[in-house]
Amino acid sequence: MTAQPVLFLSHGSPMTAIEADDLGSAWRAHAPRLGRPDAIVMVSAHWMTNIPMVSSAEQPDTIHDFGGFPEALYRLRYPAPGAPALAERIKQRLTDNGLAAGADPRRGLDHGAWIPLMFLFPDADIPVLQVSVQPDRGAHHHLAVGEALAPLREENVLIIGSGHMTHNLRDLFMDGGRMRHETRAFRDWAHGQLMNHQRDALLAWSDEGPNARLAHPTPEHFLPLFVALGAAGPEARTEHLGGGTVHDILAADNYLFASA
Ligand code: ZN
Repeated sequence: MTAQPVLFLSHGSPMTAIEADDLGSAWRAHAPRLGRPDAIVMVSAHWMTNIPMVSSAEQPDTIHDFGGFPEALYRLRYPAPGAPALAERIKQRLTDNGLAAGADPRRGLDHGAWIPLMFLFPDADIPVLQVSVQPDRGAHHHLAVGEALAPLREENVLIIGSGHMTHNLRDLFMDGGRMRHETRAFRDWAHGQLMNHQRDALLAWSDEGPNARLAHPTPEHFLPLFVALGAAGPEARTEHLGGGTVHDILAADNYLFASA
């Protein structure tokens, strides 16, 4: 069996779950190619902790971790089973790699996890667990987390980093806005580095990326990219899966990394 690919997803707004947008179309278009993994590890920007945490619930709840959205969104559930035995192995693997880690049996699936999964694996019958991000630790730490997870790909485990290509929410809340050219410059830079395998430049994104602070006023939505890059390894073939923008403002690119 060939190793599972690795994904980096921009997970959109909660509205992506119920609106027809570029992002949902991109996920639907590529879902058939993903085959059927035995388990899914979701590294979501919406679970932030001081040390890497692994969710170990037998049956994770669907967390509606957003406010002020239409009632229909709060009724959605993604009832996939958890993967407690795999969670324990991941915690151990992280610890063995010098990354002190914990397990949380109460943690459910946040919208950074369940919204893309609704499109990619709509039957919700593949076990899913989450791994948290550490906003106070940088790109290299998250790359190391990804490297520790990488061998799971050989066991038919799909590793997904779920964040956003840009996450300039303040611009999103200004009525009638369009993507600022400064944000577009960051998106184009990051896309170019990804497609040209410039991992070192990406690791220095907060210094080298144009307008990085405008594109990501806080880092947590970009950090899952580095987990994906670590899990993919330096030789991976990179494929852009599209995704467009959210409300014309947030860049919502998605990538697949596969063994070359
Ligand atoms: Zn988000």
